[in-house]
Amino acid sequence: MPDMRSQSADVVVIGGGTAGFGAAIAASRAGLRVSLLEATAKIGGVMGFCPGMPWGGGYPVGRSIGGIFDELTTRLMTLSPPAAAVRPSTLENFGAEVIYDHETATYAMFEMLEEAGVDVHLNTIVGAPTVEGNRIRSIQAFDRRGPISFTAELVIDCSGDGELSAKAGVPFTVGNGSGDMMGVTLSFTMIGADCAKVFAESDPYFERYAAEGVATGRLHPDLAKLYLMRSFHPDAVFCNTVHIRGVDGTDPNAVSRATQEGRRRCRQLARFLVETVPGFERARMIDLGPTVGVRETRRLEALLRITGTAIAQATRFEDGIVACDNPVDDVMRGDGAMTHDAAVNKGSFYTIPLRCLIPKTIENLLFAGRLICADPVAFASVRGMPQCMAMGQAVGTTAALAYRHGCAVQAVNARDVVAALVEQGVNRIGEDHPIEFNRA
Ligand SMILES: Cc1cc2nc3c(=O)[nH]c(=O)nc-3n(C[C@H](O)[C@H](O)[C@H](O)COP(=O)(O)OP(=O)(O)OC[C@H]3O[C@@H](n4cnc5c(N)ncnc54)[C@H](O)[C@@H]3O)c2cc1C
Repeated sequence: MPDMRSQSADVVVIGGGTAGFGAAIAASRAGLRVSLLEATAKIGGVMGFCPGMPWGGGYPVGRSIGGIFDELTTRLMTLSPPAAAVRPSTLENFGAEVIYDHETATYAMFEMLEEAGVDVHLNTIVGAPTVEGNRIRSIQAFDRRGPISFTAELVIDCSGDGELSAKAGVPFTVGNGSGDMMGVTLSFTMIGADCAKVFAESDPYFERYAAEGVATGRLHPDLAKLYLMRSFHPDAVFCNTVHIRGVDGTDPNAVSRATQEGRRRCRQLARFLVETVPGFERARMIDLGPTVGVRETRRLEALLRITGTAIAQATRFEDGIVACDNPVDDVMRGDGAMTHDAAVNKGSFYTIPLRCLIPKTIENLLFAGRLICADPVAFASVRGMPQCMAMGQAVGTTAALAYRHGCAVQAVNARDVVAALVEQGVNRIGEDHPIEFNRA
C-alpha cells in the first residue's frame, strides 16, 4: 500500500457536475481555497455523459436565472463564431433552452474554474469521511497514485449519489422513497442529417415511425416515442431517447450493464433512423455517451423538503436561491411513462429554498444538485442543469459565509446568502422578501 498523501483546503467540493462547477467557482471567488474532486476525466457530470444535452430551465417565464449559468452562456454566445444559442423547447411546458457546442462548453467551464483559482483534481474518487461529533474532519480519496486524504473546514457534496454524506450519517431516500428510480438514458448524436427534412415531421416524438419500428421488432418497446432534437450544429440531431428502466444508479455493476444494453439499443435506433426516417439517409452516429446518464439516486434529508404542493402553489421562499418553472419531468419510473406536466400555472414560477441543501446535523457539510431534499414530484421539476448550477453557486456562497463567520452552516443567515447571490447577478430571488443591502 503506498503512503497516504494528504492535502488541505478551506472547502472540498465532491463532484464536478453542473452543481459542483457552480459551488467551486462561487466559493473560490469568495476567497476560499477550494479543491474540486471529480471521479472522471471531465467536468460536467451528466452533461459530460450525455454530450450535447441542452441546458433546460434557465429562463423561467422568459428571463435568465442569471448568475454563473448566465456568465457561462454569455461567454459561449459571444465567442466568434458563437458556441451557444437560446431557443424555445419543442416539448410541452418547457421554456427556452440553451444548445451549445459540447467541446467548447467543456473548455469554457474548465477556463472559468481556472480563472476562479479552483484546484481541480480529475480522476479522483472520494471514499469515506472521518467524522468527529457533528463535523467531517477529513475525507479519503483515491487517484492514480493511490490514496490521498483531504482535510477541509467545509465539504460540499455535489456527487449526485451522496455516498459520502450517507456514510457521514445524513439520512436519505432513494428514488420515490421505495427505491424506485427514474430510468437512465444513453444518448448519442446523428451527424450528417438533413435537418430540414427530419424536422418536417410535425410530431415531436416521431410516433408513427417508432410504432413501425417497435411492431417489426427493430426497436425496443420503450422506444414508442422518439425524442430527437436539433443539435447546436446544423447537420446534427441529438437523440436523448434510449431509456432503461429499473437501474439502481448507485450500483456500479448495474450502471455498467445498463450502459451496454443502452449501446445495443442506440445502435439499433441509429440503424433504424438511417433506414426509415427521411433526412437520416446519409447520417451516422457520433458522441455515444461513455456511460448512461443517471437522473436520480439518493436525495439527502435537509432542514426542509420541497414538495410538489409547494411548487404547484408557485411558492417563493424567503430563502429562495433560484427561480424555476420547469415541468414535472418524470422519466420511466417503474412501469410509468414520461411526463411533462406543468409544475406551475403559465406565467408563474417558484423558487428553490436554500434549506433544502443544508443537512440537519452535520455542521460543515452542504450539498447541491440532484441530491436536493425534495419529494418525487418536486424533484422531477427542480433537476435541470441551470438550477443545479445555481444551487451550487448558492451553497458555495453559503460555505464562504460560514467560513468567514466561523459558524455552522445551519447558522448562516439565509438572507445574507440571498443578498450575496443578488449581488452576483442571480435574478428573481429576494423580490417578494425585500433584503436590506449593505448591512453593517
Ligand atoms: C439522461 C438525462 C437527461 C437529462 N436531460 C436534461 C436536459 O435536457 N436539460 C437539463 O437541463 N437537465 C437534464 N437532465 C437533468 C440534469 O442533467 C441533472 O439533474 C444534473 O446534471 C445533475 O447535476 P449534478 O451536478 O447534481 O449531478 P451529476 O451531473 O450527476 O454530477 C455528479 C458528479 O459527481 C461525480 N462523482 C460521483 N461520485 C463521486 C465520487 N465518489 N468521487 C468523486 N466524484 C464523484 C460524478 O462523476 C459526476 O461528475 C437530464 C438528466 C439525465 C440523466
